[in-house]
Amino acid sequence: MADRWYPMGVPSFSRLAHEVPEPGMLVAHDRALYRVIVVHEDHPANWAEKDRNRLVQNRRAVEERKRHRARPLPREVFYPSPLDGWDGSEETWPNRPRGVELQPMAGGKRLHAGWPHPGWAYWYPVDEHHPVCASCGEPFPCREVDAAKEAARQMVKVEKLMAVGPSCCWHCGEPITSRQGARTFPGENLLLPGGPSPSFHQRKTGGCLYAAKEYEKKWREANPDLAETADLFGPADA
Ligand SMILES: [Zn+2]
Ligand SMILES: [Zn+2]
Repeated sequence: MADRWYPMGVPSFSRLAHEVPEPGMLVAHDRALYRVIVVHEDHPANWAEKDRNRLVQNRRAVEERKRHRARPLPREVFYPSPLDGWDGSEETWPNRPRGVELQPMAGGKRLHAGWPHPGWAYWYPVDEHHPVCASCGEPFPCREVDAAKEAARQMVKVEKLMAVGPSCCWHCGEPITSRQGARTFPGENLLLPGGPSPSFHQRKTGGCLYAAKEYEKKWREANPDLAETADLFGPADA
């Protein structure tokens, strides 16, 4: 399956992992858009045990930060924290538990989600003008765009493999000299259908040995009969 979805296809973490979503905000997650409708406050009396524990930890962190700031290491840089300036009280605690209601833009039932939660790292606030695919309606990049990119990547891989010369290593593409150790896997080429039986250098530099071991796993699965033949390659090196 395709990789994780990111707005504009650029891997990143969302600031919502640390900042409370705001009502009215447009957020994107896993190829869908949502509107933040309301953010509920939970009364401290209803806070869960884990929230109480977080409160204690956060208070401790603030104290430690203050102590540390008073005596910084030479040239130490302090990055801002959402806890900076917090007086330690429950009501103003920046990380106090909230309930967030989200309306899927494509319609359907509202979703309820607790905040904070590590999962928010993958819910991205997006601009009101975030591009949406004219063909399928998904926020950019849509599945088709991702599939086309993946196909282009595969094409580049195939072209590289087709360029591997005879008696060259199928990992690094360099010639295998008679002095170098190499391993050839008989039978069908599992990297390039129709290609010759591939050989790999037995050296760790450049990752050839690792590539050979990875190939061997696939090769054993594809050739259970061949794999049972002992000493096919002579003594294996560690
Ligand atoms: Zn599309
Ligand atoms: Zn190699």
